[in-house]
Amino acid sequence: MSAAQPTMQARATSKASGIPGVKHVIAVASGKGGVGKSTTSCNLALGFAAIGLKAGILDADIYGPSQPKLFGLRGKPRQLGPRMLEPMERFGVKVMSIGFLVEEDLAMIWRGPMVISAITQMLREVAWGDLDILVVDLPPGTGDAQLTMAQQTPLAGAVIVSTPQDIALIDARRGIAMFEKVNIPLLGLIENMSSFCCPTCNHVTPIFGHGGARVEAERRGIPFLGEIPLDIQIRETSDDGRPIVATEPDGVHARHYVEIARSIWTAVSSGAASRPPPRIVIE
Ligand code: ADP
Repeated sequence: MSAAQPTMQARATSKASGIPGVKHVIAVASGKGGVGKSTTSCNLALGFAAIGLKAGILDADIYGPSQPKLFGLRGKPRQLGPRMLEPMERFGVKVMSIGFLVEEDLAMIWRGPMVISAITQMLREVAWGDLDILVVDLPPGTGDAQLTMAQQTPLAGAVIVSTPQDIALIDARRGIAMFEKVNIPLLGLIENMSSFCCPTCNHVTPIFGHGGARVEAERRGIPFLGEIPLDIQIRETSDDGRPIVATEPDGVHARHYVEIARSIWTAVSSGAASRPPPRIVIE
C-alpha cells in the first residue's frame, strides 16, 4: 500500500470532529435497499422541521441518490467561495445530495475511497448554517461508506429502517451489529411497509408480515420507534417530490413520521443517546 493511501486501521481510528453550526447528526440506515430508507429519512427530516427544529438532510446514498427526487429539487447547488457549496432548500429543510453534483451513472462506478471522499466533502464543505439536526441518509448495507460516517462524524445515533419480514430483518441485524461495534448509539428501529390497508374495502393485509421489527428491537434491547404502513399515498407523494409530511401534514401518515421524529429528538436532545466518541478497531 502506498504511503499516500491510509490503511483501514489508520482511517478507522481517526478522530471524529463536529460540523460547525450543526448540533446533532443522526444516520438513517438499512441492511438492504428498497425498504424505504430514503422515503423515511426525507419524511423524518420534514418531521423535525414540523416540530419547529432547523433540519437538514444529507443524501449519502452515493449509489442511488433519491433525495433530489423526493424533495422535488433540480439544478445545482450554488458555489460559495472556492470550497463551499450552499445546500438546496425545500419545505424548510436544507438538502445536499451527490445527485445534484454528478450524473448518477458516474457515481455508480466509484470505488470506495472516492465514495468516502465525496461523503466527507458533503459533510464538511457545505454551508449548513445553524441546524438543530442533520439527517444522513446512508447507503444500504454495512460497507466502507457507513464505517467512514461512523468514524468521521460525531453521530448522535443511528436509526435502522426495516420491513417486517425475516429476510429484511436478517440484514437489519447486520446494520445493528455494525453500529454497536463502532459504538454509535442505536436510536431505534422503524418498521416500514408494516401493513397494507386496502383503500377500497379497508381490509388490512400484512403483505410483508407485521411486528417483526418490534420483536427484533425488543430482543436487541433497542427502542422500537414505530410502524409506517405500506400505502399508495406515501408511494405517490414520495415519487412525485411532494413528501407526505410537507404536503399532507394533518394526515395520519404525517402524524406517524412526526411522532417518530419527536421521539428521536427527545432521545438526542436529552443526551439519553450519548456515548463516548467512537473508537473503531478493525480486525
Ligand atoms: P430505499 O431508500 O430503502 O432504497 P426508497 O425510500 O427509495 O427505499 O423506497 C423504495 C420505494 O418504496 C419507493 O418507490 C417509495 O416510494 C416506496 N415506499 C417507501 N416507503 C413506502 C411506504 N411506507 N408505503 C408505500 N410505498 C413506500
